[in-house]
Amino acid sequence: MRFAKRVMELEDEGAYTVLARAQALEAQGRDIIHLEIGQPDFQTFPHIALAGIKAIATGQTRYNPSAGLPALRQAIAIEASSRRGLEIRPAQVVVGPGAKPGLFFPTLALIQPGDEVIFPDPGFPTYAAMIQVAGGTPRPVPLIEEKSFSFDLKAFDELLNQRTRLIILNSPGNPTGGVIPLADLEYIANRAHEYDCWVMSDEIYARLAYDNLAVPSIASLPDMLGRTVIVDGFSKTYAMTGWRLGYAIMPETLAERVNLLLTHSIGCTATFTQMAGIEALTASQAMAEAVVPEYQRRRDRIVDGLNAIPGVHCQTPQGAFYVFPNIKSFGLPARELARRLLDEAGVAVLPGDDFGQNGEGYLRLCYATSMENIDEALVRVGKVLADTRMAK
Ligand code: PLP
Repeated sequence: MRFAKRVMELEDEGAYTVLARAQALEAQGRDIIHLEIGQPDFQTFPHIALAGIKAIATGQTRYNPSAGLPALRQAIAIEASSRRGLEIRPAQVVVGPGAKPGLFFPTLALIQPGDEVIFPDPGFPTYAAMIQVAGGTPRPVPLIEEKSFSFDLKAFDELLNQRTRLIILNSPGNPTGGVIPLADLEYIANRAHEYDCWVMSDEIYARLAYDNLAVPSIASLPDMLGRTVIVDGFSKTYAMTGWRLGYAIMPETLAERVNLLLTHSIGCTATFTQMAGIEALTASQAMAEAVVPEYQRRRDRIVDGLNAIPGVHCQTPQGAFYVFPNIKSFGLPARELARRLLDEAGVAVLPGDDFGQNGEGYLRLCYATSMENIDEALVRVGKVLADTRMAK
C-alpha cells in the first residue's frame, strides 16, 4: 500500500509506546510504577472541573469561533501579558485542543521545503515530527548537560544560515527539566534578528519552576514579540491533560493564517473545555501555586536517590517534572536499560534517545507521582542497576 512520504517517516512518541507496554504488563497482574508519561498525578482542580460541568449542563456544547472564545482569548492575553511583562492583544491569541496544535499549525504556516528548523536534541518528539510533516529540514542542536541542558551555542552557530527559518526553544524543557539562562536567550535573540528568523518558544512548563526561579521568556526581549510564537497551555499547570486545551501567541498576521488551518482541521476547540479554561485563569491561582513546592520536594528526593546509585549522575533540573540522569557508565544502550527496568523491576521509564539521538546515554523519569512511588522506584531501579554493574 502506498502512503505519503510525510507519514511514512513519522515516528511514534516513546511515552505512548512505553505506556502501552506497561499497561499490557499490568493487565497480566504485574505491579508497575509509571514514570514514563508526563502528566500531573493530581486531579484537575475541582473549581475548574465544575466550571466545565456547568458549561455542559447549561448547553455550551455547540460550535464556537475557530481561534477560541473571545472571553478566553482575552483572559489568556491578560494573563500572558502580566506574566511576561508584555502587551499581548486577544487577536494575537489562538486557542486549540492542547499545546500541540499551537506547535504544529504555526509550523505548517511558516515552514515549507527548503526551510531549515533548529530545535533542541534531546527535545519533545513533536518538534521533529512537525518539521518533517511541514517538509522542512530538521537541524537538531545538542544540549549541554553541565549547562542546565541549554543549547550548545557553538553548534547552534554552525547550524544557522540563510535558510534557517525557525528556531524552537523549550524552557523549562522536556525531557531534561533544564531552564535556558537569560544570557543564552539574549544570544539566540540576537542571532534571530541577524538571520531574520522566527522563534517558537514552548513555555508549557513555565509555571513549574523551582527554587523561586523566574523563567525568562525570549518573547520579552527587545523586539522579539514580533518574531516569536509563544506556546503554552493548561495541561501541566492546571492538571488538565485530558481536557485538551492550549494556545499560541503570535503576530496577528500569522494568527490569521494559523486560524485558517484550525478552521479546516479541528474546526474549533470544545466550548465547555474553554469555559473551564476561563475559570482556570481567572479564579484564584492558589492550587496551581501549591503544587509547585510539592513537585520540588519530589524532585529533590528523586535527584538525591538517583545520585546515590553508583554509576548514575543526575543534574538538578530547575523546572518541569522530569529528571534526565546520565547512565553512560553502564555501557548499555538507554533502550536496553529502560527495557530491563520495566521487565525486571516494573518501573516504566523512557530511554533518552526517544527524544533524539543526543539523548542516548540518558533515561527520562517523570516524578509527577507520589513520594511513595518515587521511593519504591528508587529501590527497584537501584537494584537492577547494581545487578547490571556486577554483570559488566
Ligand atoms: N510541549 C511540551 C514540551 C510537552 O512536554 C508537551 C506534553 O507533554 C506539550 C507541549 C503538549 O501539551 P498538550 O497536552 O497541551 O498538548
